[in-house]
Amino acid sequence: MSLGLKVVKGMKDILPDEIPGWYFVEEHLKSIALAYGYQEIRMPILEQTELFKRAIGEVTDIVEKEMYTFTDKGGESLTMRPEGTAQSVRLALENSLLRNQSQRLWYMGPMFRRENPQKGRYRQFYQFGIEAFGLEGPDVDVEQILMMARLWRNVGLSDKIVLKLNSLGTIQERAKYREALIEYYKKFARDIGAKDKKLMLDEDSQRRLLTNPMRILDSKNPEVIEINKDAPILLDFLGTESKHHFETIQAMLKDLGVAFEVDSRIVRGLDYYTHTVYEWVTTHLGSQGTVCAGGRYNGLVSLMGGPETPSVGFALGMERLLMLLQDNQLIPAKSVIDIYIVGVGEKGERKAMSFAEEIRQQFPTLHVLNNCGGGSFKSQFKRADKSGAKFAFILGDDEVANNQVTIKSLREEIPQQTKSQEEALAFLKDCFI
Ligand code: ATP
Ligand code: MG
Repeated sequence: MSLGLKVVKGMKDILPDEIPGWYFVEEHLKSIALAYGYQEIRMPILEQTELFKRAIGEVTDIVEKEMYTFTDKGGESLTMRPEGTAQSVRLALENSLLRNQSQRLWYMGPMFRRENPQKGRYRQFYQFGIEAFGLEGPDVDVEQILMMARLWRNVGLSDKIVLKLNSLGTIQERAKYREALIEYYKKFARDIGAKDKKLMLDEDSQRRLLTNPMRILDSKNPEVIEINKDAPILLDFLGTESKHHFETIQAMLKDLGVAFEVDSRIVRGLDYYTHTVYEWVTTHLGSQGTVCAGGRYNGLVSLMGGPETPSVGFALGMERLLMLLQDNQLIPAKSVIDIYIVGVGEKGERKAMSFAEEIRQQFPTLHVLNNCGGGSFKSQFKRADKSGAKFAFILGDDEVANNQVTIKSLREEIPQQTKSQEEALAFLKDCFI
């Protein structure tokens, strides 16, 4: 490019070729949400920085390192949203959606995190998310798992994705677990434990030991993964009620025929989760294998100043879903253009304009591309072919003089036919409707 200007690192242009895949994903996600009675919300990109700091927690990857935060001209600190849950809570509280009622909400849109870009990890990426407020579960937890199980079935991915499930219990139970974890990890910490250990926590984990030790379980460093193998397990710290919640979910999933694995390493990166947490994971996308992640976050609404409100939701990474569909050739090839209008000569070009309008009027779902800009019959025909259209409708001097149109099939070996314009419209009805 002449000025050398480029798209921002980690952000991507989405080009026309990729759009059929995006439509496919968006339509499937939307229809799942509607099928389960969820209602759409649309939220702004910018929020007050404080919202995410409070809701997500200061000692998380997102808040510590990944947020796009700036001071606007009025001196206010704003952040480009890194995720949608905190925002949904803000929206629900601000608009009194939680007063004596439950809510099932969904949203779709771009999120921003300043991470190291790689396959399946971008600085602007798209999430589809749902949040249910005011429902204690475990039935609604299961409902949300069913939604995704249905999505995988609908798009043909059931055998590529597995459900990994865990429970984080209550905040109190987690506090006890935290103590046990700290005790365990101390043995692998430079300044606190023995120095001659073969395995050591890395700097990041060492820092987390004092701030948020559960995050160490999430580490992707091989040495830390080794240490984690013998770490205490959260499930051993659950009380009777939490156990019951978790067992009921498992029993319901079994009844419904949804396969899952209990995986005690699933702790999720965010502070606000309680009880159920899960990830839908594929082995087909390398280390970016988590396509969808969610769980229950009963403490968040009250943390944000609202009434005690049981809440549960998930977020799905739309690029990862799209990549998985592409890799498995599951996106149906759609011809974007149905009919290409070729108008030759002054009269032909003028007629092309009005005839294209007539078709759009009568067949609002057809995609009609008018050549525009003139050119010889040959050059227009080349463009018609390139457009992927099924038919070219040709209007030259002869056709205009006789109120006719010549129809040429661009995909099948059918001889071209000249018809009256009325017959041509009837022909379209036969072909497409
Ligand atoms: P990861 O462990 O891969 O960083 P996460 O725990 O940060 O994921 P969540 O905050 O739970 O992710 O977001 C839900 C989903 O959004 C993820 O499972 C993933 O599919 C997608 N996602 C998260 N961050 C990115 C990103 N930077 N680029 C693309 N997709 C992402
Ligand atoms: Mg992350």
